[in-house]
Amino acid sequence: MIARDGIGMTSMRTRDRLIEQLRAEGIADPRVLDAMRAVPRHLFVDEALASRAYENTALPIGHGQTISQPYVVALMTAALAAEGIPQKVLEIGTGSGYQAAVLAQLVPEVAGIERIRPLLARARRTLLELGIRNVRLRHGDGQAGWPEGAPWDAILLAAAPQIVPQSLFEQLAEGGRLIAPVGPRATQKLMLYHRTDKGIESEALGAVSFVPFTRGTA
Ligand code: SAH
Repeated sequence: MIARDGIGMTSMRTRDRLIEQLRAEGIADPRVLDAMRAVPRHLFVDEALASRAYENTALPIGHGQTISQPYVVALMTAALAAEGIPQKVLEIGTGSGYQAAVLAQLVPEVAGIERIRPLLARARRTLLELGIRNVRLRHGDGQAGWPEGAPWDAILLAAAPQIVPQSLFEQLAEGGRLIAPVGPRATQKLMLYHRTDKGIESEALGAVSFVPFTRGTA
């Protein structure tokens, strides 16, 4: 089915090695590991980088952006699914579509916003090629969220704002979770927020380094 799959550096064995690394680094949720195993990451990067697609690193996807590191994709997915699989998830900063594809293995409805039009076009093609049908994508500035789809059970930011826009918390369902890298690149923290009946609670999950959350579209 997938034309570029099969041999050498993108083989199933190479992919399984990455899954073992994720497990060794503390990703324990079998649902998340299965989702990571199911998504061929090499189809989300340029062919010239395909041989590096199963290294546990971020890689360039053009336009100054990167496909997130597999460990971080797994960590964020696990954090959102820890207390039950959300029904509807919004991702802001869809980039290559890789994180959206991983979420789509677990979550019935995924929506993604990307501000750079050519990246969005390529993400659409890749998801189509993989037969992934439960992801809706939109070109736009994620600052405003996706109000028509709200409330979201979970919201994932794949780019780092200085502070999370209030509009996104407003679109989060009660009991919902929002995960986001927050702060300048050198001192960024991955933050997990829960919307409870008392308000927003937050928890820091550790240091990360995401591209900045940028205003406007391109
Ligand atoms: N999840 C992506 C990561 C891409 S990097 C993947 O798996 O490939 C983060 C992306 O966020 C970039 O493509 C960048 O263009 C996008 N981005 C940054 N600020 C944004 C905003 N305000 N609205 C929408 N997308 C944004």
